[in-house]
Amino acid sequence: MAKFQRLAEHLQALGIMDESNCHAPAPLSLTTLMRAHDPGYVQRFIRGQLTLQEVKDIGLPWSEWLVERTLRAVSGTLLTVELALQHGLACHLAGGTHHAFPDRGAGFCIFNDLAVAAKSLVDSGQAKKVLILDCDVHQGDGTIAFFEQDPRVITVSFHCEDNYPVAKQSAGINVHVPRGTNDGEYLALLEQHVPALLQQHRPDFVLYDAGADVHIEDRLGHVHLSDAGILARDRYVIDLVMTAEVPIACVIGGGYDHDHAKVAARHGLLHQAASDVWQQRNAQ
Ligand SMILES: [Zn+2]
Repeated sequence: MAKFQRLAEHLQALGIMDESNCHAPAPLSLTTLMRAHDPGYVQRFIRGQLTLQEVKDIGLPWSEWLVERTLRAVSGTLLTVELALQHGLACHLAGGTHHAFPDRGAGFCIFNDLAVAAKSLVDSGQAKKVLILDCDVHQGDGTIAFFEQDPRVITVSFHCEDNYPVAKQSAGINVHVPRGTNDGEYLALLEQHVPALLQQHRPDFVLYDAGADVHIEDRLGHVHLSDAGILARDRYVIDLVMTAEVPIACVIGGGYDHDHAKVAARHGLLHQAASDVWQQRNAQ
């Protein structure tokens, strides 16, 4: 959990984040949360009444602080969406808890911020069609389950199948990233699929999960991207979506290393890419 603070410090040190472009989310509206998630599950989590098995599936010990952090992170994704609607591009310093299902958490994910945000966008009429592009190394199984029956939200998951979760979801659009995929191969996969998907589905909003666990040194991932590869991936996606004049909200997704500074720096590649694309477009 230390990586979140490290990420903020890292971006400040790089000069990418300062008071002029940094926004703090308000407390989360539980009504918004419960429109996506089962209200009983939400209430039991907040009150600390989950069963031992439910806590075990999530993999994080319950505490009041965990409740605060979890709700704040989802609120941050909603704020990132609002800012993306205003400016065309915005990035969160957290988010991407894509293993959470409507009525249960899993794999360090309690509430699915991508699903809560996408549902809020289409229900409120702020978007007609949302495309969730999930480039975390793990399948966004929870997100897929949320929208299996909802044609307003298209889920696209680029993931390495040799990873968690063992039981994959078959709905949605799934692109297999082979074990050991390198920078060039990964970019080629994106080029092969993403422009065509944007053409075909014509979303008016994109949520991008820029998981850093595709990094070669990640503890879990099995995919071999370098820092430069992640930077190229994120630049490519953000530029492509912005060129299509579709607002894009980015979340950091997964990233695992015993060294918090290293993993924070990997997550920060997203914000570097966003900053690069932003400056390039504004210089034109
Ligand atoms: Zn992951």
